[in-house]
Formats: sequence, structure tokens, C-alpha cells
Amino acid sequence: MTWYARSDTGPRKARPEKTQGAAPTESLWLRCEGCDEVILRREVEKNLRVCPRCNHHMRLTGRERIAATLDEGTFEERDADMESDDPLSFKDSKRYRDRVKSTQKATGEKDAFVWGYGSLGGKPVAVGAFVFAFQGGSMGSVVGEKIARMYDGAREERIPCILFSASGGARMQEGILSLMQMAKTCGALAHFREVKQPYISVLTDPTTGGVAASFSMLGDVIIAEPKALVGFAGARVIEQTIRQKLPEGFQRAEFLLTHGMVDMVVPRGELRDKLVTLIDLMAG
Ligand SMILES: [Zn+2]
Repeated sequence: MTWYARSDTGPRKARPEKTQGAAPTESLWLRCEGCDEVILRREVEKNLRVCPRCNHHMRLTGRERIAATLDEGTFEERDADMESDDPLSFKDSKRYRDRVKSTQKATGEKDAFVWGYGSLGGKPVAVGAFVFAFQGGSMGSVVGEKIARMYDGAREERIPCILFSASGGARMQEGILSLMQMAKTCGALAHFREVKQPYISVLTDPTTGGVAASFSMLGDVIIAEPKALVGFAGARVIEQTIRQKLPEGFQRAEFLLTHGMVDMVVPRGELRDKLVTLIDLMAG
């Protein structure tokens, strides 16, 4: 790993990547999308991918999220090999099947959700997190099935459940099968409630579409990360539909907090402690 690369035309300074800060690369530096500063990657990673200059919360992968939450080394993944089918033989500029394959290769994940069991502050929990890099964290049959199984598992074990959302919504390539995941997951969640254990929903940037319109907004406690975008339809679509200008900060975590849609906005550095406290207070 070097700071400078040499080309045929002479020495050239290695350029910091301009892409999203959470993308794993070999570069030593990354550019923060919040303040546009170039920062040492190591410094950002040490800080749970929160910019030390401007507090911008960059995206975490599902596994990073789970690792940053659970007691170290306690995560036991479930349904790791579940893969998407292609029920509609969907094709746009590329076949859906091929898109899934290339995303699997790029992300190292089988689909857009990771879940399993672990302990948090010494207490057993079921935990799941979206993988936004996998087709925008879109919810198809695999994501919906895994989430339903997570609620089912937490119900059988009678333990609390924590879910981290980061999703663009339903996976359109699976058509109505992706939309029915909203009902299926919410049904499993209603069933989970019978055991009277807490379900904590953490909304991270972005939580939108069918994910925002189902289990994400049904937490006993709903936490959002600072400035996370949370909403069903995009602001532009809403403005065009209602023919009104939307207020400043619309669909951001802080706006939702003041309008009663979320219970708290918690900076990432304090999130684990907050979850430990909540589980301590609420778990039966
Ligand atoms: Zn920054």
C-alpha cells in the first residue's frame, strides 16, 4: 500500500476515492460526503465510520453493524446460505439472476440481510441488519423470509430482537412477491409480541419504501441515527403530488423526532450503550 502511484508520464499523487465512504477499498484516505474533507480511513474506521470532523454518519455493512453492537465474538449467524430465486425471470438491461450473482460477488453476501443470535451486555438477543450495498438493501423474498425467521426465532427463544434497517424499499425485480414480504414480516412480528419481549428498531440512512412502511416503524422503541433519511416516498414525488414545498429537514431523523415518528436520535458512538440500557430495562 503506497501513498503515491507512478505512471509513465511521471509521478502522480494517488487520488482519494470520491465514492461513498463506507465502500471498502485499499485506499488509505477517504473523502467525507458530509464535509468534503479528505480523512485517514483508519481514523474514520476507529470512529465506527463517523466523520471525526463533521459527525457525518457513513454507512456500515450489515456485519460491521452487528459487530459494533453485540458483545465481541458472540454472533452466530442463521440462514446464511439463503439465496434469491428469480420467479418472474425478470430482465431489464441485464437479467435479475445475473445482477444477483454480480452483487453477491461484489459484496460477499448472499442477499441484503444478515441475522443471527448473540449477546448484548450479557443478555441473549436476536439481531439482524440490512446490507445496503446489496441492491440498495432492497427487500425481496430472501430478506423478508430472513426477517420473519428472526422474529420467529426470537419468539421461540423468548428473547429481545433488534433490527437495523437500511433499505431503498421493496425489490421490484421480484414483483408482488417482494411486496408481500411487508405483510409476512409484520405478521411474524405480531406473533413475536405474544412473548412480551422488546423489539427495538434502529433506522439508519436510508430507511425508505416498503421497509419504512412495515416492520421498521413498528418497534417498541424506534431509534434513528443522526440525519438518517427515513420515509416512504421521496421528497420530490411528494412535492409533485401535493403541489406544496416541503419543510426544511423533511424526512430526516431529527424532523421525525420532533414530529413523534421516532423515539430517539442516538449518535452511533452511544448506540450500543443505549441498546444495553433499553434491553436491561425492558427484557423479561
Ligand atoms: Zn465530514
